[in-house]
Amino acid sequence: MTAFGPELPFRLRKREMRKEGTEKMAIRNILRDSDGRLRKKSRPVERFDERLLELLGDMADTMHKADGVGLAAPQVGILRRAVVIDIGEGVIEMINPEIVWKSGELVDDAEGCLSSPGEYGMVKRPQKVKAVYCDRSGVRRELEGEGLLARAICHELDHLDGVLFKDLASEMLDPEELG
Ligand code: ZN
Repeated sequence: MTAFGPELPFRLRKREMRKEGTEKMAIRNILRDSDGRLRKKSRPVERFDERLLELLGDMADTMHKADGVGLAAPQVGILRRAVVIDIGEGVIEMINPEIVWKSGELVDDAEGCLSSPGEYGMVKRPQKVKAVYCDRSGVRRELEGEGLLARAICHELDHLDGVLFKDLASEMLDPEELG
């Protein structure tokens, strides 16, 4: 006689639970730009724990579902310095990020925000930036971004200081002109 009878379903159950746990998706509500929380300065992340992982996962899911290329934690009502960016090359998670260098060359281009659906404006951003940040494990990293990535880094990091793209836009665009 062996014990595998009652043990096997138990093990399977545990594995299924784990699978559900890691694959669950949670879409969070994105705040609109009129919400005062988007004007606050976010505080640094201090604990690299399960809650942070859950937040980062939810932020990536929320960004992808909304077809965005970046999302900052304050946009889902969490006033902590964390952003996710995906310009089509995979998700970059940046915790406590800082821009340490910007190119002098600026690029003027149309930009929008998941907190301002359907609105676009022309914003001048550096062509290239270098940022330092922590990854989800708290390991210090460095990233150089150009073009759209540089723009996304600047836009998302502005959110952590309560700055919205509309504050910087030289002009807002007429949606009908965008086609
Ligand atoms: Zn935004």
